[in-house]
Amino acid sequence: MIVHEQTDYELGDDLVDVTDLVCPGCRGAVVEAPPAGWPTSAGIVPEFSHPDGSVLCPDGYGRVPEPVERWSR
Ligand SMILES: [Zn+2]
Repeated sequence: MIVHEQTDYELGDDLVDVTDLVCPGCRGAVVEAPPAGWPTSAGIVPEFSHPDGSVLCPDGYGRVPEPVERWSR
């Protein structure tokens, strides 16, 4: 019987492991944890952060991006 790890993250139709995801800004690794010190008053807490706990690099509009697969453009 196959048991999926809790780190599996559903992205579209594919089940992607968080270790296969990178920040679209710096192409660095991400961890499945909210950024450290994220103010709850800021609204939706991001699901992912850099390994050092900082928020993922914002996109050109200042929005926190979703991580992308390591091999995507
Ligand atoms: Zn980044």
